[in-house]
Amino acid sequence: MTAREVLKQNFGYSEFRAGQEELVGAILSGQDALGIMPTGAGKSLCFQVPGLMFGGITLIVSPLISLMKDQVNALVQEGIAAAYINSSLTERQVARALENAAGGMYKLIYIAPERLLTSEFLHFAHHADIAMLTVDEAHCISQWGQDFRPSYTAIPAFIAQLQRRPVVSAFTATATPSVRDDIVAQLQMKSPQVLISGFDRPNLYFDLKNDRDKYAALLAFLAERRGSSGIVYCATRATVEEVCESLCRDGYVASRYHAGLSDDERHGNQDDFLYDRALIMVATNAFGMGIDKSNVSFVVHYNMPKDIEGYYQEAGRAGRDGEPANCLLLYSRGDVQKNMWMINNASDADETIKARNIERLHIMERLCTTSECLRKHILEYFGESTIENCGNCINCETEFIETNITPDAQQIISCVTRMGERFGAKMVADVLRGMNNAKVQSFKLNKFTTFGISKKSAVTIAEMIDFMISEEYLIKTAEKFPIIKLGSRAKEALQADAAIIMRGKKSGGGASNGETSNSYAPRVAKTFGKHAVNTLLLAALKELRLRIAREQKLPAFVIFHDSTLTDMCMKLPTTIDALLEVSGVGKVKADKYGAEFVAEICKFIK
Ligand code: ADP
Ligand code: ZN
Repeated sequence: MTAREVLKQNFGYSEFRAGQEELVGAILSGQDALGIMPTGAGKSLCFQVPGLMFGGITLIVSPLISLMKDQVNALVQEGIAAAYINSSLTERQVARALENAAGGMYKLIYIAPERLLTSEFLHFAHHADIAMLTVDEAHCISQWGQDFRPSYTAIPAFIAQLQRRPVVSAFTATATPSVRDDIVAQLQMKSPQVLISGFDRPNLYFDLKNDRDKYAALLAFLAERRGSSGIVYCATRATVEEVCESLCRDGYVASRYHAGLSDDERHGNQDDFLYDRALIMVATNAFGMGIDKSNVSFVVHYNMPKDIEGYYQEAGRAGRDGEPANCLLLYSRGDVQKNMWMINNASDADETIKARNIERLHIMERLCTTSECLRKHILEYFGESTIENCGNCINCETEFIETNITPDAQQIISCVTRMGERFGAKMVADVLRGMNNAKVQSFKLNKFTTFGISKKSAVTIAEMIDFMISEEYLIKTAEKFPIIKLGSRAKEALQADAAIIMRGKKSGGGASNGETSNSYAPRVAKTFGKHAVNTLLLAALKELRLRIAREQKLPAFVIFHDSTLTDMCMKLPTTIDALLEVSGVGKVKADKYGAEFVAEICKFIK
């Protein structure tokens, strides 16, 4: 069978996605491979398909016990012989699994890195035909990365002990060039095929609000999404508790997750979310790595995260199934201050790390105040600079009013200059507005010619300063109390023919306070339209799926993804053969569940 046939027969997909085919091809030809692809891009199939085609066994090193269980469950559903070995099994279960593995029962074996060098596993590995070793979440092997795991250093030692070197493949969603090089070096990969696919997630809609009442904003957002599943990230445990309790009081079935809960409760809550018993998970950033739930249709950030890396990773947990999904960021100045406090009071960071974290925080803040396309802004941060405005984010949809602020900008610049580039934005505004307060007096700032020169409000001046920073007329230093200095374009602004046009958000858009009545309604993006499907049929199919999932004690998305149900609604298959044409329906699942789904569709058509 060709790789494509394996893809169709086992997973029900007719085409590889961009990047998958190259990696699969390289691996099948015996080359090492490194795949760097964003969450949801489809990394798993890159090693699962060749794993099924190799004569021997493929070992997959994975750091997360919950993830292994889900992946193996999903594979078994597709009729694939897979198993996992980790600390959730008893010694006897491990022994039995290894016995089965030695007997050639499994093609794919997921294993925790701690297990690799145990004597029983080494014994097994010596006698087994291991065709490939795959390292999932490969950035964990790098000390330069944010999630370094010492147990990953066992991997090269393990490979070295094998009688025959297997193909080595590695996958991650997050890798800077230094981490990437480190992965190749640490794993001693041999001239690997490296594939870095774009970081864009076109099906995610990026939304941004700075409503004063965050909870009201959250409720308005959720009211438009009853019945769909999502995550609400909060900065602290206390906020998680508060938001979760309020949501439950307001009639939502929400669960919570943070490091302060017992292991049992955390696992229980995670399962509730996974199995759709609780549709909303309110959590700190402790929740997520390894949440492989494909039908998360929104991620809300109740607080602004401390950097774009974290934000994008968390937001990226929405829409893994490729369906349109929504990422809402509720931003407030208070979040910036809280983050700043946390960075400055982190006990484990030296000054260089603190400075870098503060800089990252300012970059995150810029994302929240820009009038630019948010997707473009994010992707440029990750080094992708050639994209157009996306048409699928709040800033692209917001009407901006253009105001000529040249005289104000010139006043601000000359005020900053006169004040000796030594003060923060608030002081600059105070001086411009002629506030004769104690601090102004103590520095004798009321003697300047720019004192009291402006008739604008404090808010407007703050907005103009933010805008001038984003346009590089001014700089905000990366300090605990940031200082405003002249930027590289300050001179340009003072020239006679200067025209500085600020794009401000009209009320109803992005980071403004006004709300139009339908601004939280689920978006139908231009390029990512929800397909016109019959919602009644879709609901019926979801109900059928839920019933089967409960009977089988599996998460619903392991039976069929939402995208598969949607495709059924489009293609309306009335025979098993026709059902096999639906994206995500492989042979085994068609045999197992096909009749029931076809019957449901026939009933509907009648
Ligand atoms: P990652 O590990 O990169 O985050 P996954 O491997 O979990 O992503 O895949 C994300 C989703 O995309 C899964 O639901 C998977 O079934 C689906 N998928 C992967 N490859 C394809 C493909 N070629 N065609 C259609 N769907 C795919
Ligand atoms: Zn955009």
